[in-house]
Amino acid sequence: MKHLRRIISLAATVCLPLLLAAQGHPVTRDFLMGRTHYEEDTCFVPISRGYTRLALEYSYIQKETYAAYLKMRQAAQDDGITLNVTSASRNFWVQKYIWEQRWQRNSSLPGPERIVRSLQYISMPGTSRHHWGTDMDFCSKELAFWQSEKGRRTYSWLKENAGRFGFFQPYTSKAGGRTGYEEEKWHWSYAPLADIYTEAYRTMISPDDISGFAGAHEAADINIIGLYVCGIQNEDYIPPVPEVSDKGLFKALPLFQENKEDSKHQTSKGGDVVPLNRLVLEDK
Ligand SMILES: [Zn+2]
Repeated sequence: MKHLRRIISLAATVCLPLLLAAQGHPVTRDFLMGRTHYEEDTCFVPISRGYTRLALEYSYIQKETYAAYLKMRQAAQDDGITLNVTSASRNFWVQKYIWEQRWQRNSSLPGPERIVRSLQYISMPGTSRHHWGTDMDFCSKELAFWQSEKGRRTYSWLKENAGRFGFFQPYTSKAGGRTGYEEEKWHWSYAPLADIYTEAYRTMISPDDISGFAGAHEAADINIIGLYVCGIQNEDYIPPVPEVSDKGLFKALPLFQENKEDSKHQTSKGGDVVPLNRLVLEDK
């Protein structure tokens, strides 16, 4: 009997994190690179219009991220902080439109400067964390807001509390040596899923996969994966379930599906469709 209890306890310890993690969208190359139609994907849900300030009909996020966001939003509200969402999931084609506008605007700059300046606050399509349904921007993308009294209180609340709900700020100050994009106090990421996708991206995607838009030929030279996709900070994040951060566990999960074709969640249609009516402002 004692052995049986020990076996059940061990099984629960091992399986619970796996079951929790398996709620996320399966990992495929297409998914990691944003070739997803969120409105048709059963892993995604629309964010309540009352919580967004987007000029969109709906903005989508993964179900698990949304559940965590709702808890965090309520806790923030209880402390007098309102966490409205200004941007959530953006697919490859939306990001392509945003990126190419910026790329064109910087066309007078010499080669290296053009790419570095374009990448200050905007990701190349196929490389954005906003592709995954795990990342959201809160309140405002204006630096002035985050320097205001209200902005400082909001940021200080997020730094203090977001980790309790699974969120961390990937683009922190670069003073400590972090590479890639500039600091973004508005951009927060749901680590239990995003950590899996970051690791998967690092191992499954190569610079050759990053193509299909203006300026894509610069991706390898600038080390877009090493310095930008992986140029994040997440040491502040304390996972609610420690085993979740053990990448070794996830290698065997159905969450990892290398086959592009047969995932039931896979909704990529291909083609360079630009859904202009779903366009949001810039940012990665
Ligand atoms: Zn963002």
